[in-house]
Amino acid sequence: MAHDPNLYPADRVVRAQKAAAEAGLDALLVSPGPDLRYLTGYEAQPLERLTCLVAPAEGEPFLVVPLLERPAAEASPAGGLGIEIVGWRETDDPYALVASRLPSGLGRIGLDNHMWAEKVLAFREALPGVEQALAGQALGELRMRKSDAEVRALSEAASAIDAVHLNVGEWLKPGRTEREVGRDIADAIIAAGHARVDFVIVASGPNGASPHAEVSDRVIQPGDPVVVDIGGTMPSGYCSDSTRNYVVGQAPEEYLRAYGVLLAAQTAQTESVIPGITSQQLDAIGRDLIEGEGYGDYFIHRTGHGIGLETHEEPYIVAGSQRTLEPGMAFSIEPGIYIPGAYGARIEDIAVCTRTGGERLNRVTRELRVLA
Ligand code: ZN
Ligand code: ZN
Repeated sequence: MAHDPNLYPADRVVRAQKAAAEAGLDALLVSPGPDLRYLTGYEAQPLERLTCLVAPAEGEPFLVVPLLERPAAEASPAGGLGIEIVGWRETDDPYALVASRLPSGLGRIGLDNHMWAEKVLAFREALPGVEQALAGQALGELRMRKSDAEVRALSEAASAIDAVHLNVGEWLKPGRTEREVGRDIADAIIAAGHARVDFVIVASGPNGASPHAEVSDRVIQPGDPVVVDIGGTMPSGYCSDSTRNYVVGQAPEEYLRAYGVLLAAQTAQTESVIPGITSQQLDAIGRDLIEGEGYGDYFIHRTGHGIGLETHEEPYIVAGSQRTLEPGMAFSIEPGIYIPGAYGARIEDIAVCTRTGGERLNRVTRELRVLA
């Protein structure tokens, strides 16, 4: 797959080695997943056979792959990084191979946060006495500060999901089930340019009161408020995630009041993004407003999550987090109000912290969309 050369620059592994040293890790071991893609551009299959980037804090990094995967690895951006690609045969022990090539005297190694448990345990056996820790403590610091090319990729993802929201009225009609509407939306997510559909939430009426309801066979009724939260992964690897709210016909008065409060809270939060503000301060700006209007008990989750090669990653916008926002950080702002048994509403945009403030990547109106 052709890719923007700026999206997966060649110096990432070197930066990761430096970050590992700073985090007190003697080496990073990274199996297929978002960390491997971030570091090398290689979208490797997650298989039972070991594929692993080995990046010692000091020394030459190398990529261990099953021999039958070597052509794919070499054809990927990883093949152009100048890193040795070591193929192992079906009868080799790849864990022993990694251990034999690592510098001796390792104290502590970082394993990528999503490594399969069977691989973690195999490395524990192959490297006795070496403490295992999470590579995320080093890699998370890099991944949460997006480059300009990454922000462009997130912006493209946001535009693609915006295009789907613009057309929801074509599919969302009373008399149809959430599942039927969800299927049409999933097709539209692909048609808009995503490589993969990650989730489709169509939560109508009382189902909207559950933030992670997906779709059901409930038939959408006239006057139902409907929460539509959708996202996918673009060919670039970067993700989209956006929530808008729809009503077919006339929504209940009490819902409209709650929606007005929610919109004011989400707007205040998106307008408050600025370098130096902490995650918990940003969370409180929306939460205080919602509490002040009497809905505090019904805003039952954090404000948002970072987004990039994963839909949920650092930084989390949550009470108790002292993390200071910096230019390049990208995250969702998605307060919600959920009245059990009645309805729910959530408004979600992806925002990027820039030097001068926040930029919303999703541009579709946040007003309640009333469908005919
Ligand atoms: Zn989200
Ligand atoms: Zn979402």
